[in-house]
Amino acid sequence: MNFELTQTQREVLETFHEFCAKRIAPRAREIDESEEYPLELFREMGRLGYLGLAIPEQYGGMGLDYVTCSLIAEELSRASTGFGLSVGAHSFLCAQNLYNMAGESQRQKYLPGLCNGELIGAFGLTEPEAGSDSTNLSTHAVKKGNEWIINGAKMFITNGSIADVILLFARTQRKPGSQGVSVFIVEKNFPGFSTGRDIKKLGTHGSPLSELVLQDCRVPEENLMGKEGRGLSYMLKALDIERALLSGMAVGGAQAALDCALDYSKKRRQFGQLISSFQLIQEMLAQMATEIEAARLLVRQAAWRLDQGLDITRHASYAKLFSAQMAMRAARQAMQILGGAGYCCEFPAERFYRDAPLMGLGGGTNEIQKLIIARDLIKNGLRPTKPGR
Ligand SMILES: Cc1cc2nc3c(=O)[nH]c(=O)nc-3n(C[C@H](O)[C@H](O)[C@H](O)COP(=O)(O)OP(=O)(O)OC[C@H]3O[C@@H](n4cnc5c(N)ncnc54)[C@H](O)[C@@H]3O)c2cc1C
Repeated sequence: MNFELTQTQREVLETFHEFCAKRIAPRAREIDESEEYPLELFREMGRLGYLGLAIPEQYGGMGLDYVTCSLIAEELSRASTGFGLSVGAHSFLCAQNLYNMAGESQRQKYLPGLCNGELIGAFGLTEPEAGSDSTNLSTHAVKKGNEWIINGAKMFITNGSIADVILLFARTQRKPGSQGVSVFIVEKNFPGFSTGRDIKKLGTHGSPLSELVLQDCRVPEENLMGKEGRGLSYMLKALDIERALLSGMAVGGAQAALDCALDYSKKRRQFGQLISSFQLIQEMLAQMATEIEAARLLVRQAAWRLDQGLDITRHASYAKLFSAQMAMRAARQAMQILGGAGYCCEFPAERFYRDAPLMGLGGGTNEIQKLIIARDLIKNGLRPTKPGR
C-alpha cells in the first residue's frame, strides 16, 4: 500500500495551490459578500485546463485521474467553497458525466467548450417533489418526430441560471420509480427552456442556485444521452462521483477553517500568552487536524477506487458522511477558537460556518448516506464491496 502521491499528482496540486493562493483565495470574501459568480475566474481556470481534469486530452481535458480531481476539489474549496461548488457542478457533475455517458458526436460537440470554460455546465436531477427520493421524477419527455418534448421543473440546480448546457433527467416511459428515466443534454437556448428564480441561501455564495422550467421544451433526438431508459444507472454512477468529490470539498472547507484557527491562535494573546499555548485550544486544533486527515484518507480511498474501476458506492458514502459531519465540527471549533472575532464578518470563520452545512445536504443528505451504508452492510456484511460494475 502506497500513500504517496505520484509526481504528476504532486505537480498538478502544487501548481493549482499557487493559482488558488494568488487568484481565488484573495477574492473569497468579495465573492461571498457580493454573491456574484466570478465568471472571469472560471474562464481563467478553463484556459489553464482545470475544468476537464479527468477528461481525455482529445476532448480538451487533461486526462488525469480521479485522485487528482479530489485533490483539486479540496484545494479549490479551501480557497472558496462557494466558487468551488459552482466549478464542481460544472466539471464533476456536467462535463465528467457527459464524457462518461455520452456518445462520440455529443462528446465532440460539447466537451471542448466545457473544458475550456466557454460553456458553463449544470446537472439537473432534483425536483420539487424528488429530492432524496430522486427517482420520483415528474419531469417527462415524449418523442415527437425527431424531437423530444420535455415538460417539468427542476429545483436547487447549481449554476442553473448561468448554465449553457444542462444534463437533465426526465422520465421517457410511463413506469413507476426508478424505471424509464433518461438523460438529455439540454441547451439554454432550446425553445421552451427557461430558468426560474435564483434561490438565496445561507452560504456557498457566488454559486447560483436556481429553478429550471421546461415547458414543451424541444430537444433534438440526438441530444438523448446514452441509452433511453438507462437513466437510473447513469444517475447512480454520477452520484458516486459527486459524493467522492464533494467530500474532497468538505475536507477543503474544514482545512480552511483549521488554517484560519491555527493562524489566529498563534497571534492572539490573552492572560499574557498566545492562546495557542492553552491546552484547551490545542485540544480543538488537534481534534480538527486529526478528523480532517481521517476524512482526507476516506476521500482518497473513494477516488482511488474510482480510478481502479471498483465499486465505490459504500466508500463514497463513508467519505461523504464522515467529511460532511467533520466539516461542521471543524467550522464550529474554528469559530470558537476565534472567540468573538469568529462571530464577526471581518474574519472568515463565520463564512466557513455558513458554507459547511451544504456538505451534508448536496449529493444526498447525511441520512441518505447512512441508509446506503447500512443497506450495503446488511446485504454484504463487512467484506470489501464487490468489484466494479
Ligand atoms: C446548495 C445546493 C446545491 C444543490 N445543487 C444541486 C444540483 O446541482 N443538481 C441537483 O440535481 N440537485 C442539487 N441540489 C439538491 C440536493 O441534492 C437535495 O437538496 C438533496 O438531495 C436533498 O433533497 P431535499 O432538499 O429535497 O430534501 P428532502 O429529500 O425533502 O429531505 C428532507 C429531510 O428528510 C430526510 N430524509 C429524506 N428521506 C429520508 C429517508 N428515507 N430516511 C431518513 N431521512 C430521510 C433528509 O435527510 C432530510 O433531512 C442542491 C442542493 C443545495 C442545497
